Amino acid sequence: MSHLIFLSKRSSQNPGSSTVGVESILSFIGIVTGAAAGWKLKFLTASGAAMAFLVGSLIVLGSGIQGLMLLFLFFITSSLFSAFRKEQKAGVEEKLAKSSTRDWEQVAANGGVPALFAILALWTGDAVWSLGFAASIAAANSDTWASEIGPLSKESPRHFLTLRKVERGTSGGVSVLGTGASAGGALLIAGASLLLLPDISLGGAAVIAAAGFLGSAIDTVIGGTIQSRSICPECGLKTEARAHCGRATIQTGGIPWMTNEMVNFLSCLLAGILPVLFFW
Ligand SMILES: [Zn+2]
Repeated sequence: MSHLIFLSKRSSQNPGSSTVGVESILSFIGIVTGAAAGWKLKFLTASGAAMAFLVGSLIVLGSGIQGLMLLFLFFITSSLFSAFRKEQKAGVEEKLAKSSTRDWEQVAANGGVPALFAILALWTGDAVWSLGFAASIAAANSDTWASEIGPLSKESPRHFLTLRKVERGTSGGVSVLGTGASAGGALLIAGASLLLLPDISLGGAAVIAAAGFLGSAIDTVIGGTIQSRSICPECGLKTEARAHCGRATIQTGGIPWMTNEMVNFLSCLLAGILPVLFFW
């Protein structure tokens, strides 16, 4: 049964069942180790680690060990950038209602879409879903890099619509550093997809990079317009958190259910689905 669970479309093309067996065991060890290490190093909460295990398992099932490596690349680089100059980003974290320790909702927001596309790739046997899979990871990586590196910018970010200067960490704010990080995050996943995924060509990698960057841009646009905005009644902090200073925050704008996680989820979904529709 364990063979069936971790057997991928691609690994099934490998001659010899022993390769598949070794691959399955390595994948399983990789997922458990990754989730446990993420929890131990406080990159993930316990619920975040459980969700990472689920997402990792679905991705191995759908896209094999190569797909898992792509997920790891996202997870490891994002966690490192999260921890990088953490004290400098403390105010931003408070504003964004998130800490660098990710819970299950944050993991699902970024990993749920790639997991879904990986399963669709397996189910349909159509390489176009692999493209969507990689594009959605590229979007997650692009957006996470931008939101972890962007706040370190020396210049104040500007709102993408009004071009007015906004506080660091404000959704919809853009900076040169953040945009560069966003491009870098998308390019890394595109390059890795070209090396790891057998059905991704150079043209496919270009599509992944473009879709990933676009996904991050969509995140900025939704984040700066209809995303839920609140203010703390106690200290006046403009925050996305539901509670601050021990009190519930007051909604000041946006759609109540359009949380940061929802925005991440939607932008990953759009980044993955656009290339699928384009090539179908
Ligand atoms: Zn407060």
